[in-house]
Amino acid sequence: MKPIRVLIAKPGLDGHDRGALIIAQALRDHGMEVIYTGLRQSAIQIARAAIQEDVDVIGLSSLSGAHKSLFPKVVEALKEQGASDIPVIGGGVIPAEDIPFLEEKGVDKIFTSGSPTDAIAVYIKQLIHKETIEAPSKIAHIGIAVESIDATLPFYQHTLGLELQAVEKVESEQVRVAFLKIGGTMFELLEPLSEDSPIQSFLMKKGEGVHHIALEVDDIHKRLNQYRDQGIRLIHEQPKTGAHNSQIAFLHPKAANGVLFELCQHGEEE
Ligand code: ZN
Repeated sequence: MKPIRVLIAKPGLDGHDRGALIIAQALRDHGMEVIYTGLRQSAIQIARAAIQEDVDVIGLSSLSGAHKSLFPKVVEALKEQGASDIPVIGGGVIPAEDIPFLEEKGVDKIFTSGSPTDAIAVYIKQLIHKETIEAPSKIAHIGIAVESIDATLPFYQHTLGLELQAVEKVESEQVRVAFLKIGGTMFELLEPLSEDSPIQSFLMKKGEGVHHIALEVDDIHKRLNQYRDQGIRLIHEQPKTGAHNSQIAFLHPKAANGVLFELCQHGEEE
């Protein structure tokens, strides 16, 4: 396969290109050919360079705060020169508030300053090879750590009036779990079965309360690979068997600023 060609450009007047150079190097490390235009390019110059260099994608960087006018101008210049098929992505110092505006103006994707460079490389590969990251379809359940399911159930069943669907043991995690249906999703009460249970260590450290959020996915192997490629830390590199014979895997809570996410793929209904 021929390497992906990327034009990295800095429109406008800001005079710092350290960030742009770091991105350029990171993309080269991912096997891409990167052309860097240098500082202070006009939208028309950028569009021309992209066409001449026959690039697959343009990455714009802006630190000056002028991205709301500069990025759409590049998209316009490409359109005027008949090259609207070249996708444009942007990064730098861009407040999250501006993302919907920029995407509406035809910028494919904005990476805020916290985005890991690997995530940008993975996004470009997926964009060019027309693969998409499929978002989880729903919240499969919310996991709640409890000392005792029997002591906790009355609140869920009688106060909230929820229906208890099943109680089962998951030996691999040394937990007893109770599922209560709420709308299209569930609460999962988790009671430790032994001192070795991860739920037991959670209770010791943090006490009872919300433990994790489980996301329903279609293809857990594929999602794990995609997340790993983006540099996301995983607790489980391979899925394991969870309740109801589902396939599950946990992401590291550092990946999501302290929230423990579980991926969950349900097996065929019996
Ligand atoms: Zn769970």
